[in-house]
Amino acid sequence: MIDLHVHTSRCGHAEGAVAEYAAAAAAAGVRTMAFCDHLPLPAGYPSGYAMAWRELPDYVSEVRALAAECVTSGGPEVLLGVEADWIPRHEGMVAEALDAYPFDIVLGSVHFIDDWAFDDPDLRARYAEWTPDRLWKRYFDDLSRACASGLFDVMAHPDLVKKFGDRPAHGLRVWYEATADAFASAGVAVEVNSAGLRKPCAEIYPALGLLRACRAAGVPATTGSDAHTPADVGRDLSAARHLLREAGYDSIMVFRGRVAEEVGL
Ligand SMILES: [Zn+2]
Ligand SMILES: [Zn+2]
Repeated sequence: MIDLHVHTSRCGHAEGAVAEYAAAAAAAGVRTMAFCDHLPLPAGYPSGYAMAWRELPDYVSEVRALAAECVTSGGPEVLLGVEADWIPRHEGMVAEALDAYPFDIVLGSVHFIDDWAFDDPDLRARYAEWTPDRLWKRYFDDLSRACASGLFDVMAHPDLVKKFGDRPAHGLRVWYEATADAFASAGVAVEVNSAGLRKPCAEIYPALGLLRACRAAGVPATTGSDAHTPADVGRDLSAARHLLREAGYDSIMVFRGRVAEEVGL
């Protein structure tokens, strides 16, 4: 199993230290894992969504030390990654942070619509300000702009906007095809993220329709649990693999030093 999306307690809304995640990965049969904790946010954003800037160097050295330790101990392969928010007008800041460290993999995410963290259950009331059609248009437009930024290797949980179950009654295919084309033009991979199964939408990110569109457009894929607690490392990745096969994939990508390498499903 390959789990390229695992957090740590540093982000402020997860629990567990890196060594606990590696032990859980070994127990779950994960052979390659990537820590992709949340890159710090620009000044002015609330705390609790990402690690603080002062923590970033420690995060990097901690994961690298664990990676070296796992090589000698025969533990899972540990990769250094990060999950970075796409925030308009802050692309330069993100690029600088990504260049400063030897990341293996960079996940790109849209968690914010303007200042609204739309995936935060505490801010769910703000869905009332949007119709599903307007929200989906805005989200997928932002996601297309995000992937075109050139900052990211993989687009994480690509239909996160469905998290609480609100979705347009029809016309999803238009968004799926446009998104898959945008991913293909940008040369990014799509993440098949099992965390959606643990959320109100009760569905892997992305939906089969979007994954099929990605496959048709030639977009490579990765798998991740998005674990925010050690017990979730590797969780439901067999369902992720099943969905990938259903969409026509027979391989996924692992990133090392930000270079993709294909591995069979
Ligand atoms: Zn998180
Ligand atoms: Zn995320």
